[in-house]
Amino acid sequence: MVLRRTDFRESSRIVTCLTRTQGRVTALAKGAHRPDSPFLGRVDFLNELQATFGPDRGGLRLFVRAELVRERRALRAPARFLAASHLAQLCEFALPDGRPEPLVYDLLVGGLALLERCPEPAIGQVVLGLELRHLEHLGALPDLHHCAACGVRLDGGAYRHDGEPGLLCRRHARTPRTAVGVEVLDLLRQLQATSGRQWPQLALPVAARVAAPLPALWLAAATEQRSRLRALLFERG
Ligand SMILES: [Zn+2]
Repeated sequence: MVLRRTDFRESSRIVTCLTRTQGRVTALAKGAHRPDSPFLGRVDFLNELQATFGPDRGGLRLFVRAELVRERRALRAPARFLAASHLAQLCEFALPDGRPEPLVYDLLVGGLALLERCPEPAIGQVVLGLELRHLEHLGALPDLHHCAACGVRLDGGAYRHDGEPGLLCRRHARTPRTAVGVEVLDLLRQLQATSGRQWPQLALPVAARVAAPLPALWLAAATEQRSRLRALLFERG
């Protein structure tokens, strides 16, 4: 999956791809700008390729061959493009160089297929569903049904504290606390419990944007914990 390309010298490009078997791969496509290049019209954002890369010798790998498998033209519509770009960014973050994460890759491919054909008003709930799946893969999705402190069922809504991902019952949420409405929880639970194909048809209790801030907090927390630069910074001494 082509994620990014930058010009290199007059006629070449550096291409960043997400792959199912090798994680993120950055490679040099020589002569990609030439009119007779086999890369022309193939290495475009979010195109799915059957690609061959040269061996990894510690430097920049060579992009040897690219066959176009799928071009997602429907994703060029602005709302879909925005959602697809957001998903690609989430997945890139979870796909380190050279380490395969097939689940993340499959979420990206499946997610793009959903975003390509869901009705436009359903894009928001599809994105939230994808974010929940992604958080599950990262092990960063809090229990949506039980208090993080005592395990009691959260039937009438929940509470949370700033800077802590877990959902809490009234007894274990000290003040100051933020209430999480039962409709918001219900929306997230429905998305979590159903398959992606069903997301566009779900009749949800509130609009996706009402529930959107909560997964955003969890994603931010997961991102911070997994930040490579941050880890380097604090593991030095
Ligand atoms: Zn509790």
